[in-house]
Amino acid sequence: MKKSLLCLVGSVLLLCSCGKRVETYSSSIPNVQQKVDEFISVKLTADLSHLSENDKKMIPILFEIGKIMDDLYWKQAWGDKDALFSAINDEALKQYVHINYGPWERLNDNKSFIQGIGAKPAGANFYPADMKKEEFNTLEDELKNDLYTIVQREEETGALKVLPYHEVYKAELTKVSELLKKAAGLSDDAGFKDYLLKRSEALLTGDYYASDLAWMSMKSNAIDFVVGPIETYEDALFGAKAAFESFILIKDKEWSDKLAHFASLLPTLQASLPVEDKYKLEVPGSDSDLGAYEVIFYGGDCNAGSKTIAINLPNDPRVHIEKGSRKLQLKNSMKAKFDKILIPISQLLIDDEQQKNVTFDAFFENTMFHEVAHGLGIKNTLNGSGTVREVLKETASAIEEGKADILGLYMVDMLTGMNELGDDQVLMDNYVTFMAGLFRSIRFGASSSHGKANMIRFNYFKEKQAFTKNEETGKYKVDFEKMRQAMIDLSNEILIIQGEGDYAKAKSMIKEKGFIQSELQADLDRIEKAGIPRDIVFKQGLEYLEL
Ligand code: ZN
Repeated sequence: MKKSLLCLVGSVLLLCSCGKRVETYSSSIPNVQQKVDEFISVKLTADLSHLSENDKKMIPILFEIGKIMDDLYWKQAWGDKDALFSAINDEALKQYVHINYGPWERLNDNKSFIQGIGAKPAGANFYPADMKKEEFNTLEDELKNDLYTIVQREEETGALKVLPYHEVYKAELTKVSELLKKAAGLSDDAGFKDYLLKRSEALLTGDYYASDLAWMSMKSNAIDFVVGPIETYEDALFGAKAAFESFILIKDKEWSDKLAHFASLLPTLQASLPVEDKYKLEVPGSDSDLGAYEVIFYGGDCNAGSKTIAINLPNDPRVHIEKGSRKLQLKNSMKAKFDKILIPISQLLIDDEQQKNVTFDAFFENTMFHEVAHGLGIKNTLNGSGTVREVLKETASAIEEGKADILGLYMVDMLTGMNELGDDQVLMDNYVTFMAGLFRSIRFGASSSHGKANMIRFNYFKEKQAFTKNEETGKYKVDFEKMRQAMIDLSNEILIIQGEGDYAKAKSMIKEKGFIQSELQADLDRIEKAGIPRDIVFKQGLEYLEL
């Protein structure tokens, strides 16, 4: 019988697959209920009235698949889910384990919160918990770094062996494959049908390439379905193994059309960037595939920890070269985070007069223009030393995220100038919402590339007096003119760093500005004290939908 991770880390406490005695797990932190309450619950629903009868019949099938993906992710992240839950009596503790997909706090450096369970193995359940990197390095198997394999120990010898997902999870994946075929049989959309069929094959062979290409080719489908082993964050040991997840999505046609229109303006926008011509000679593609969606189901990896509000897939670089990638903006979960988290933060930290400028439209625009703005600027340095990414090395992604943030804002400026988006009011809403959004993003630290980019911008704006802070109320106020100028100047600086491939400048910018100063930390602490939710959790299921 296969040893589960549970068995290795908690063998004296629990009956697991190798037959140890049962005891009850208890919490190692004082008030679990309070921890649970830090996650505010939101119903996932969407208008389905425009769907065809066949599409409506398909949705329960997709939910069934999504549930299997969720169960498979549990196996990858932890091991035996049922054994874990059956050893917990406390309701709040159960809920907290549920939120975290295991006994480690995902939004708190994976700290263990159950007595007797140690630190989370870096490689989750993708590798034996006792395996060291050195041992893995000596393993000779060409599939050991494959995205869709796991590493286990031989029962008898204890030697490492590599197994493909489609063998380890054969029963589940066969079931999913059949359900995908059933769903495909109901689809009236040729592109979506083709994708579902190719995906049903892929899960059985571990070769996702053709199905990824099919996913890129879909254009007119009202339902979208992300399913399979996809992201590699759960494997913190090597970042090599893909975790199962699933999103069921309903396309927001109106906003998707708007996004397509904005993307079509990219070449014009590129020409108007606030930088010398030589830094904008590359012509961006105008067919950037960007869409707005309502999510009705999150399962597995994407439902664990912080909830994604935008998807950019597939990850396969071969598909990027051939077809690019698709960017999906998840409007209803964005709205939930806006209402439940961003609004309370701005009530605490944004000037009373300017709170009216914190709007959902601006929040949505900030997020989607960030994605579009990745397409602006240039990808290759001017002196031919290589791509910006190569030359800027470990600073590349913080600088690139900073570019997308600031040019996203600059796009709003350009679009209002072109009468494409509205007037100065829209611009001011975007500035103030951008400012409030910054507090939300850096609330849990600024160590990621996005976090560093946010801090560079915050400290840059501060120097340029784009905002001021009222010492009495502790609230921040945006200065329209100075903010506009700071945005133009920072856009210019970043575009030049990328164009010149100026690694030294990138490094010093991150060093000097990419961190949280103590005064700001005090403001972030106020957010914590005010009991503003850390994140959202979803109430989801067919019962929340009108089918
Ligand atoms: Zn980005």
